[in-house]
Amino acid sequence: MQKQEKMNDYIAPEKNQDTEFWWEGVENHELRIQACDDCGKQWFPPVHSCPYCASEKWKWVNASGVGSVYSWVVYHRAFHPAFKDDLPYTVLTVKLAEGPRIVGRLIQQNDDVEVYADMQVKATFYERNGNTLLGFTRV
Ligand SMILES: [Zn+2]
Repeated sequence: MQKQEKMNDYIAPEKNQDTEFWWEGVENHELRIQACDDCGKQWFPPVHSCPYCASEKWKWVNASGVGSVYSWVVYHRAFHPAFKDDLPYTVLTVKLAEGPRIVGRLIQQNDDVEVYADMQVKATFYERNGNTLLGFTRV
């Protein structure tokens, strides 16, 4: 890990043994979530056992990427210098059709997208400094 980044450097995703497969999915433009073999529930973020029944029998499945806006924040101030050129930008919490909530940036198709609760969105993927990241666009 390169922890000695300058303050204005891009913040790269941190991957670990629980999240590595998820990031590999993002690189392949797949939105992967975990599904429990015992209780059938699906969840995000990745963890090593089912957060509902503690089963360690689960599998990765591809989510549809379709969901609705659960909550959002519009950033008008950069809380890290790496984001100052993006201002203003919107970060969404999306409730996926499969159930889990997931966070991603709103990718604007034009400047006049006004976000509202339950707005229908779909996952999209974008590149930043050699990394593929998850975003959402209005459907
Ligand atoms: Zn379970």
